[in-house]
Order: sequence, then C-alpha cells, then structure tokens
Amino acid sequence: MKGYTGRLLRVNLSDGKVSKEAISDSMKENFLGGRGFAIKLLWDEVKHVDPLSEENKIIFSTGPLTGQPLPSSGKMVIASKSPLTGGYGDGNIGTMASVHLRRAGYDVAVVEGKSEKPCYLLIEDDKVQIKDASGLWGKSTFECQDILEERHGKNTGVLLIGPGGENRVRFSVVLSQKGRAGGRPGMGAVMGSKNLKGIVIKGSGTIPVADENKLKAMGKQGYADIMAKGNYEFWKRQGTMQVLDWCHQNACLPTFNFRESVFEHSKQLDGAMLEKIKVDRKGCPLCNMQCGNIVNDASAHPSELDYENVGMLGPNLGMKDLREVALLNRMADELGLDTISLGSCIAFLMEASEKGLIKEKMGWGDFESARKLVADIGRGEGLGKLVAHGVRSAAKEIGRGSEKWAMQVKGLEVSAYNCHACPGMALSFGTSPIGGSHKDAWIISWEISTDRSSYSEDKVKKVIELQRLRGGLFECLTVCRLPWVEVDFGLHWYPEYMEAITGRRFSMEEFDRIGDRVYNLMRAYWIRENGGWDRQADYPPARWFEEAPSSGSLEGVKLDREKYDQMLSWYYELRGWSQQGIPLKETLEQFGLKGVAEELGHNGHV
Ligand code: SF4
Repeated sequence: MKGYTGRLLRVNLSDGKVSKEAISDSMKENFLGGRGFAIKLLWDEVKHVDPLSEENKIIFSTGPLTGQPLPSSGKMVIASKSPLTGGYGDGNIGTMASVHLRRAGYDVAVVEGKSEKPCYLLIEDDKVQIKDASGLWGKSTFECQDILEERHGKNTGVLLIGPGGENRVRFSVVLSQKGRAGGRPGMGAVMGSKNLKGIVIKGSGTIPVADENKLKAMGKQGYADIMAKGNYEFWKRQGTMQVLDWCHQNACLPTFNFRESVFEHSKQLDGAMLEKIKVDRKGCPLCNMQCGNIVNDASAHPSELDYENVGMLGPNLGMKDLREVALLNRMADELGLDTISLGSCIAFLMEASEKGLIKEKMGWGDFESARKLVADIGRGEGLGKLVAHGVRSAAKEIGRGSEKWAMQVKGLEVSAYNCHACPGMALSFGTSPIGGSHKDAWIISWEISTDRSSYSEDKVKKVIELQRLRGGLFECLTVCRLPWVEVDFGLHWYPEYMEAITGRRFSMEEFDRIGDRVYNLMRAYWIRENGGWDRQADYPPARWFEEAPSSGSLEGVKLDREKYDQMLSWYYELRGWSQQGIPLKETLEQFGLKGVAEELGHNGHV
C-alpha cells in the first residue's frame, strides 16, 4: 500500500544494534498506524516486564496521514508499557519529529535496551547514531532544545525529556518545541530509564503517495474549509481556553481537588482573561488551528497555555492568577512533567495538608508552596517524592481514606472535567484505554447539551461511538482530532485523504472495525499484564459517588453507583466483553485476534 515508508527502525541501546525492518501489508490493513502499530508491537514484544527495566520498549509511531500536506497532520503516538499504570500507555504529540521521521524513511521507531551512559539518538535518513548526552543530562527541555538545534540545525525534529523523566517521575512526558508535550502515562520516565535524553531527526526524503495532485488539492481545500468555519475566529483567540468558562457555567470545573465544580475566581483564569494577556500563539506543524496560547508568566517568561493545564493548575489548586498558573505550567514543561497529573498531585497534597494527613502546611491557592512542589516533584526531592508515582501510590502510602479523593482511574489522574453530574463522561474516564483520560471520548459537551442526568444505554453507545472515532480513527491515522471536535471539520475528509494517499478506499465502517480491533487488543494487553481483570478497575474516582459539591447550580448532586454499574454492564455487552470486562473469545476472533484469545485463554483469563 502506498502512503507508508514501509519501514520500522529498531535501535537497541544495550548493544548499539540498529536495524530496519519491513512493515507488512497486513499490519497496515489491520492496524493502520500510530496507536494501532504501537499496541500490536507491544502485545507481540513486551510481555510481563517491569516498565522501567531495559526489557521495556518505547515506540514512536506515525500513521499514513502524518507529515502530509493536510490539516493538523504533524502528530505521532508515543507508547510503552506504562510505569504509572502498569498497563498500556500512550499519548500523541505534535512535533516536527513526526514529519522528519517519515521523511527519513520510517513509519515507526522502536527503542529498546538501556544505554550505559546518558545518550541521545541522531537519525539522519539511513544514518542512525547513538550520541553522548552527558552534557545534556540534568538540563531542562528548553535548554536542550536550543543546544540540539544549535548543534544539528534548526530544521530538525527534536524529542526530549526533562529532569522529571531522568528522575523516573511516573507522569513525566516527552517534550518538543518548548511546549508540545505527549505521553502522559510516564513515557518520559521510560526514556529516562533507558538513559535516553532525546531524539533528533533529520529526514530529507519524500513520502510516496498514490495521487499527489489530488492530495495537494484536497489538503488545500481542507485548510480553507477550516478557516471558513463560523467559530474559527473565536478559536484563534482562545483555543481550548474557551472551555474554562463553559465548565464553570455548567458546574463541571475541577475545583479544590474536584471537591467543588465551580470557582468564584474563574473570571480571572478564563478565555477572556487570556485574551487580555496573550502575546502569541503556536502549535503543531501542518496545522492552521495553532491552539497553544502564549502568555508571559509571573516571572515574565513565555508559557504555552491550554484548558487542561489551566484547569488542573488553576481552580483545582484554588489559584486565581493566570500568570502564576502560567509559571507553574512553564516549570512543568521545562521539567518534562504532565500538567494534568501534576495538578492532581499538588491538589491531593493540599487536601492532605488541610485534613492534617501530612505535616507540611499548604493552603488552597498557595502559589509559593505549589511552585516549590513542582520543583521538588521534578527533582524527586522532599514532599515531591510522595507524589512522584502519582496519586494512587501516594494514597496507598498515607491511607486513612485518601484513596477516595485520589482522582485517578487505573493509576492515571483524571483530566479537567468534574463528573459529579456527568455519568457519560464518568464512563468515558472509567473505560479509557490508558486510564483517566478525556481524549478517547470527550462526551461531556454532547452530554450536557442533551440529557445530562440520564444513565441511558444510548449514552453508553455514544461513548463507544466516540472511542471508535477519537481513540480509533484519529489515533491510528495519527492526525489531530481538534479540527473535527472544535470547528466541525467534516469526517468525510478522512476516507478521501486516505484514498489519495494509499490508493485504497477505506469506508467509515472499516475504520470503526479497526478502532474496535485496537480497543480489544489494548484491553487484552491490560488483562495479560495485570494477570486478570476486575470491573472495579473501570470505575471513576469514589469522590464522585460519595461527596457532592457544596456550591453551584449542581450543589448536592453526585453520581449513582448502581446506575453507573448498569451503564458499565451495557458497555461490556456492546463491546462483546464478559461482565468482568474481559473480551470474549468470539469477540477477539471476530477481529482476527485468535492468537490473542489463545494467549489469554492459556492463562485462564477467557
Ligand atoms: S489543533 Fe492544536 S493540538 Fe491539534 S494539531 Fe493544531 S496545534 Fe496541534
């Protein structure tokens, strides 16, 4: 099939071996790329290993749309067995490294083993070298970006970890271009455990496509279509920051560690406030949506804001100064920490302090304490050590009921949507394939605009429909979902782009089927690596069932456990899984995963 380079690059850091392997046609047909390739490789090659051992592998995976001249196609998926959750972990990142990887002649790069000394990879087309990174170790992602660009030229793609990844903080991420981040479930820590500080890629080739003229024309039309959308101008002004006020108005804003759902100082943090102090915008390559809002932070350094980082480091900590939030955000980017998990960890400690469960004093909105904590977490020092493995682990350590307000699913901290009164979004968090992530099924806007309080089977169907599209189609084609989500860019474009690129027509039904195959394999991976499954793992945090907010329009409302359980049962049934959340043998076989069924069956899980 055209549109792929057809090659996988494998680098073993233990023995320095570099190999290039062919990617089979059946791999392309059945898994498309991105997340699809990543889970297939992990299933086949990474079994029962310690995520921070040299036996784990980290996968940098693009898709057939990556790097092509069409909207928002500068993405790659970074995946590994997660040190935060112990299951499948991934995240996408928009970076020139994706484009250069493809131009260098690879769809995927797999890094395995462990280097004796700090190193970075330099990929220049066919030439692949492991370079000494001793002088970079300990430095921030921003400093290293400058150093490596100076050394290897500005026209390169650079992926980096910060001190957070070096110190194996379990929610450390991979950074690029001083603000693009990906790999929430500890992909930075996996790189750190391999002594891999970064990857620099320079590709000089072209990516072969079936019909170049058609693709160029359709790409151009796509960009123009986005700019003509009614809400494009507003998007350019606020990007995802418009969500903060929407969440406050609809009582789903994470406030004081998700205890409340509205914040009295929200106006000081919202999109309108952003517009007053915004100095620039930036974003991923090949995108005309550019959703990174640049502001000068409280120490006058640039910081790139979006809703998730402001939601989690703002109202969730009781912080009311956007420039101070921006400073915490920039520190996180420099250290290479995920801002969602970071916000949850700091909020957890503030609540623990309020309840007298730790001796340190830090009140809600205490900027200086938060600032010190970010540094301590990144460096693995002081109180930072308690939360460096995430809130699930911290709650186990301090006990006394704190697991009820440790806001995580499967070990990954939930992102910035309070679900006291959003059962559909709670199910979306509960069943996300990487833990508490909103990305696979952001049902909340549909839910609030339809029947918010219902726990219906239709809502469950909608979660699955969104998971197929967002977690299946977009993550496998490896293209950003935001044009579709935010400005209503038509889904019909994607089969058309695929046809112009590969020469093969995929229907939306085929994409759905691939999405389901990938979902089943990700679930099988969790089951195999955990040695079984319990439906409690698909529950959102206990706080949403047990404590209602004390203010706002939904004061007193909380989730109903029995009704959630019924939704989960429907979810399993619709997916063809057992009532323990395990894919049935016939379901796996239906998606061509007979070997997977046998492997799970041999272990007594099916
Ligand atoms: S919309 Fe934002 S996240 Fe998506 S590709 Fe564009 S800049 Fe990147």
